Amino acid sequence: MNVLVLNCGSSSLKFQLISTDLELIERNDDRRLAHGQVERIGGAAIITFVAEGREPYRSAMPIKSIRMALEKVLQWIMSDDSKIDEIGSLSDIHAVGHRVVHGGEHFTESVMMSDAVLRGIEDCIDLAPLHNPANIHGIVAAREVLGKELPQAAVFDTAFHQTLPDHAYLYALPYQLYRRHRLRRYGFHGTSHRYVAYRYRTIRNIPRDQVNIITLHLGNGCSIAAIKSGNSVDTSMGLTPLEGLVMGTRSGDVDPAIVEFICSKEGLSIHEVESIFNKQSGLLGISGLTNDMRELIAEADENDDRRARLAIEIFCYRVRKDIGAYLAAMNGAAAIIFTGGIGENSARIRSSICKDLAFAGVSLDPKANDRHHEGKEGVVSSDASKIAVYVVPTNEELLIARDTVRLIGEKK
Ligand code: ADP
Repeated sequence: MNVLVLNCGSSSLKFQLISTDLELIERNDDRRLAHGQVERIGGAAIITFVAEGREPYRSAMPIKSIRMALEKVLQWIMSDDSKIDEIGSLSDIHAVGHRVVHGGEHFTESVMMSDAVLRGIEDCIDLAPLHNPANIHGIVAAREVLGKELPQAAVFDTAFHQTLPDHAYLYALPYQLYRRHRLRRYGFHGTSHRYVAYRYRTIRNIPRDQVNIITLHLGNGCSIAAIKSGNSVDTSMGLTPLEGLVMGTRSGDVDPAIVEFICSKEGLSIHEVESIFNKQSGLLGISGLTNDMRELIAEADENDDRRARLAIEIFCYRVRKDIGAYLAAMNGAAAIIFTGGIGENSARIRSSICKDLAFAGVSLDPKANDRHHEGKEGVVSSDASKIAVYVVPTNEELLIARDTVRLIGEKK
């Protein structure tokens, strides 16, 4: 079965085409056929499409809407240019899996698409005004272009964290705000945390209910999750993805009184301050240079840039502090898992985060740690470490494709 996985943002469409079915999942043999993205939709768009093992196809052209972008993707997939043997016509695409950012309290797992599900996703727009509308455009476009009969599934970033207990998801705000507006912690990156937890139990060959781990998704966006007996019991992102760790351009936790303070000192609106928190803070805000961890490390090493060093130090300190908090929240963990662009690739950051976790019995094996980058999965802690440390490359798209196939299987 060929599943098209779509991730639609406000001005971008990312896709992967994945060949999978229940048997391939069982054998861990499902594979990506192609991937790519259309960026800057609404203006002069930039297209990058890649068939596995081939040179990327790049182009720039005006693309007005997500629907037009999707048409472009499909044209390329079917064209002789892409040389994807498995696809001769549109009918060789058997299903679509959509990444949907916010499923509120309504969606606790992945679901097959229907009019009612689409309405449910629309109901969550209030909670994710920047993300859900783009996801809906993607779903509507796929229905229009590929036909309503083609099976489609929605996989939510929030769903995995719907197992959080009320003491972890409620803010200490007037309770009626939760009752009236569903104002609470939802958490994001759920598909990533779920995927690496699944890999961990597969590597260890243990049942789901024996998975007691802390997962760290450190990419442009960063979040930490406490997973106890296989379920997410706490996570650092909140009502929105702004809360928690220091990220590329997001501040993570700050004193909420700072909003009013900046408004009055800088003469800005709440909207403008929110934009500072989301787009000009984090690694970029502290360093004044970049949100890219690789560049920050180079600046710190080659030019001894003080603020680049400070940004890296604050980033690592905050992750370490949260690991300590989560060890307490879940009464200890068997393993810590690093994933995301930074978590998967940077031995330096992993080592800096773990160095003062000796109190909890964490010790890295420096050689193993140095070896793990660019997609390598495995253990990076020493044999003596009381808590094992793993690097597990995430694969949200694969999980979305697999959920789609499983849901189709259940329906039959
Ligand atoms: P997103 O959250 O947008 O999916 P990624 O998971 O791809 O982002 O992570 C992007 C981040 O990973 C960037 O800050 C990038 O610099 C960082 N990164 C990638 N490779 C390395 C590396 N070798 N060393 C340090 N940071 C890296």
